[in-house]
Amino acid sequence: MSDHYVKVKVQLEQMKSFGEDAEKEGVDAEEQLAVSSPPASVSPDPSSLTTTGRDASNTSITGKQRGKGRSKVGKDDKNSCGKHVPDLSLHGSVISPHVGRNLNRPGHERTLHIKGTGKILQGKSENNGNCVTIHSSKNIQEARHEDGFKLARKRRPVTVDTAKAKTSLEALKLSIKQLKWKEFPLGRRAACDIYWHGVSFHDNENIVSGQVNKFPGMIEMLRKINMSRAVRTMQELFPEEYDFYPRSWILPEEYQQFSTQIRMVKENDATLNPTFIVKPDGGSQGDGIYLIRDPSDLKLMPGSQAKQAVVQEYIHKPLLIDKLKFDIRLYVLIKSMEPLEIYIAKEGLTRFCTEPYQEPSQKNLSHVFMHLTNYSLNVHSGNFVHSDSQSTGSKRTLSSVLYRLAAKGVDIKKVWSDIIALVIKTVIAVVPELKVYYQADIPPGKPGPTCFQILGFDILLMKNLKPVLLEVNSNPSMRIEHEQEVAPGVFEYVPSPVDEEVKVSVIRDTLRLMDPGNKKPSISHPRGGGFEHGEEIPMEAETQERSQDEALPSLCLKQVYPKYTKQFNYLRLVERIAVLFIRFLGVKGNMRLGPTAFRTFIRTCKLSNSNFTMASVDILYIDITRRWSGAVADSREAGMGLQAFVEAFFHLAGRRFKSLAMREQVASLLELCEAQLESQSGVEDRRSVSCSRALPRANKTQTLGLTNPQLNSPAPLRRAASQDYRLHQRLKPRTLRANVEN
Ligand code: ADP
Repeated sequence: MSDHYVKVKVQLEQMKSFGEDAEKEGVDAEEQLAVSSPPASVSPDPSSLTTTGRDASNTSITGKQRGKGRSKVGKDDKNSCGKHVPDLSLHGSVISPHVGRNLNRPGHERTLHIKGTGKILQGKSENNGNCVTIHSSKNIQEARHEDGFKLARKRRPVTVDTAKAKTSLEALKLSIKQLKWKEFPLGRRAACDIYWHGVSFHDNENIVSGQVNKFPGMIEMLRKINMSRAVRTMQELFPEEYDFYPRSWILPEEYQQFSTQIRMVKENDATLNPTFIVKPDGGSQGDGIYLIRDPSDLKLMPGSQAKQAVVQEYIHKPLLIDKLKFDIRLYVLIKSMEPLEIYIAKEGLTRFCTEPYQEPSQKNLSHVFMHLTNYSLNVHSGNFVHSDSQSTGSKRTLSSVLYRLAAKGVDIKKVWSDIIALVIKTVIAVVPELKVYYQADIPPGKPGPTCFQILGFDILLMKNLKPVLLEVNSNPSMRIEHEQEVAPGVFEYVPSPVDEEVKVSVIRDTLRLMDPGNKKPSISHPRGGGFEHGEEIPMEAETQERSQDEALPSLCLKQVYPKYTKQFNYLRLVERIAVLFIRFLGVKGNMRLGPTAFRTFIRTCKLSNSNFTMASVDILYIDITRRWSGAVADSREAGMGLQAFVEAFFHLAGRRFKSLAMREQVASLLELCEAQLESQSGVEDRRSVSCSRALPRANKTQTLGLTNPQLNSPAPLRRAASQDYRLHQRLKPRTLRANVEN
C-alpha cells in the first residue's frame, strides 16, 4: 500500500466518522447569507466542494438551529468532502469537480431530514455516496469508480437564490419544488446557479456568475416613453410591420404636434371625434390613466414641472366577450439576448372589465371599469367575479378564451400567429437599447452573470381580431393568490387556481430552460416558410403530453426566435446601428457618445467629404445631442445616447443615399460602415501581425490591445492606443521590410 493510499484511507475514515457525528447531532448544513462568516479553514474556492456542500433547503430553520449547524459546517468543510474530492480527482478518479459537488450533498440532506420533515431515514443509505461508501471495506479504486459513475449520473440539484424574489416567491417556491431543485430563501454565501430577482437586475449587487432573471436596463427600456420611442423608430423604418402599436405622442415635448394633428383631423372630417388615452410615464396598474377627447383636456402642469406621459390613440372598437372588454397577458421569455432567443408561453391570462363596454362618449370617459382592463382596478368593482374555473370570471386563461372564439368560427391560428409576430417585432425594437445597458453593466471581459427575463405583454384584440400592443411589463405580477373581501372592509389573500396554473408553469419552465446542466442546444433550426398559420396555438394545451422527464409536463414555453429568424431578421437594422454605437463608446460602462468618439466614428467609417466636413459633423452632433438632452428625462450623463445616435445615423443615411427609400438608405449606410470597419480591422490585424514579428515583446502587448476593436478602453488607454497606432505608422516600412527579409 503506498503512502498516499494510506493517507487517503485515513482521511476517508475521518470523513466517515464525521459523517456519523454529524448525523447523530442533527447538523444543519444549510448556509444562508444570514449566517456569519465560515471558519477560516473553509476552502477559498467558492465553486469548490466546501460551498456547494452546504446545499440543502429547509426554509423553516430557526436562527439557533442555524447557528448550531454553522459550527458543524466549518468542521464539515475542514474534515470531509471539501478536501477529499480534489484528492481523488488528482489521482485519476473519474469524479470530476462537478461531480465532486454532488458528493458533498447527501450528508446534508440526511441531516436536514432529521431536523425538519420527518422523512428522516429515507434514502439514508444511498444518500451518503461520497463520504461513506468510499471506505475501507472496498477496494478504494473500485469504490471510487463505482461511486463516481453513480454520482455522475445523479445530477447536482440546481441552486436558486430566492432571497429577492418578492411577490413571485410563492410561485417560485412551487416551481423549485416541482423541479426538485434547491432553494436558498435567505441567499447564499457561495454562488448560486440562478438568482431570482423580484424587481431589477440590481436587486443583488456584485453577482459575478450564474444567471439572473432580469436584464440590466429592462425597467428603463420598457417605461412607456422609452418603449414608444423604440417602437416609433421601427415604425419609421417599417411602418407596415409595426402598425400593431397605437399612434402615440410623448408629453410634454410633443404637445404641439399632438394638438395640431388632432385639430387637423377634426377640421378635415367633422364627424371624427377620436378618443385618446393618457398614461403617465412611470405608471402601472392603471394608475393615473385617463381618457380625453380634446388636447385641451390634458392635465399638463406648466413648465419644467410638466408630467412625462404618453398620449395614445384609444382603440375604441375592442373585441368583446360577454359584452366586456378584455386584454391578454402573455408571458414571454427572453432566454438570451446574444444570440436572441425568445420563447412564448402557450398559456396566458385574460383580464376582463367589470362594466359592459360602450364606445367612448363624453358621458362614459371616466368609467374605468368599462375602459380599463387592469385587474388591480377591476378587483375593486362589485362586479368582479373570482372564479376557480379557467373559463369564467373576471380572470380567465387565454386558452379558454381562444377556445370560445374558435367555437364562434374565429380563425384563432391566424390570431395566434399575429400575436407571435407582434411579440418578436416588439422584442426586436427594444433589444438595441438593451444591448447598450447590458454592456454598461456587464462590459465584455468583466465577470458577470448572464441574464434572462420573463416579460408580460399586454395585448388587446380589436373587433377585427387584430392584436394591438398596449404595453410590456418588465415585472409582470407572479402572484398566485388574490385579494378577497372576506368581510366588509376586510381583505385577505386567497389562493387563485387560475393564476397558479399559469404562472407556476411559466416560472417552472423558464427554470427548466435555464437549467445550467441542460446542455441540449436550445437553438432550433430557423424555419423558412409556414409561419403564417404554422404555429401551434395555445388552445391545444398539451396537458396530457409528457416531457422526457416523466414527472413533468411538456414545456409550456415555445421557442419563436430563432425559430422564425428568416421571417424577422431583416427587421434588426437598429440593432446593427446599436452595435456600431457600442463599438465607439470607448469607456467601459459608458452609455453616451462624446463628440470625439462621434468624430472617430465618422472618420473611421469614412463618412465625411468635401460636402460634409468635420465642422458639419460637429454641428450635427451638437444639434442632435442638445435636442435629445431636453427630451430625455434622465440626461445627467452628457453626450449622445443611442436614440440620438440613431437619429444622426438616419440623417447621415438620408444625405448619402438620397435617391433610396428610408429603409434602404439606412441599410446601405450600415453596410458601408460595417465594410469599412471590417476592412480596417483586417488592416489592423495584418499590421499588428507584421509589427508583432518585428517589435520587441513589450510593444507586442500594446499592439494586441490596439487592434482589438471590441476593446472598450478607458480614455488614457485609448490615448495610449492612438500613440501606438502612430507607432505602427512609423514602423510600417521597416516591418514590411522585416517581413520580406523573413
Ligand atoms: P398600466 O401600465 O398602467 O396598466 P396600460 O398601458 O397597460 O397601463 O393601460 C391600462 C389599461 O388601459 C389597459 O389594460 C387597457 O385596458 C387600457 N388601454 C391602454 N391603452 C389603450 C389603448 N390604446 N386603447 C384602448 N385601451 C387601452
